[in-house]
Amino acid sequence: MAKRKAKNRKIRKSGKSGKKIRGRKTFPSASKEDAKKELKISAIDEGTVIDHIPTDATFKVVEILNLENHSGIVSIATNLQSKSIGKKGIVKVGGKSLTQEEVNKIAIVAPDATVNIIKNYDVKEKIKVKTPDIIDNVVKCSNPVCVTNNEKIPTKFYVFKKEPLKIKCHYCERSMGKEDIEII
Ligand SMILES: [Zn+2]
Repeated sequence: MAKRKAKNRKIRKSGKSGKKIRGRKTFPSASKEDAKKELKISAIDEGTVIDHIPTDATFKVVEILNLENHSGIVSIATNLQSKSIGKKGIVKVGGKSLTQEEVNKIAIVAPDATVNIIKNYDVKEKIKVKTPDIIDNVVKCSNPVCVTNNEKIPTKFYVFKKEPLKIKCHYCERSMGKEDIEII
């Protein structure tokens, strides 16, 4: 990278920029406009973009995907305007594809989210998340005396209403709404 920069500087000085720069197809001359876009939110070449997240669930998604510890690019945007869901969030993760389990978890906090698989800066696949009928070991039971809060037992909930989300604990039958949901 440093080498390439040095070379370009030399070319510019000598005034022979025209033909020699031709090979740099992946980075067409970074105009001021491009630089501005870059400051807004950077595009990723390979990875996953989760779009149409309700704005208040954006950081839940970040938490679900454990992005605090991700070594690739992570871009998080909230409070963006969306025609379909009002204000929305977007999370872009470079160099990561999601497991089905992660997609299911996202569906619980962001039932309208779209998961875009990015390859070579292009959307290769769009997946619409689906709220599962049974939620295994994702949500913490809000009942402090529930067996799952006192013994090492994975939680299990049945979804009995999808919009707005209502779930019931398999063990203590506690009903929980969206506002009570805490991701494990
Ligand atoms: Zn319970």
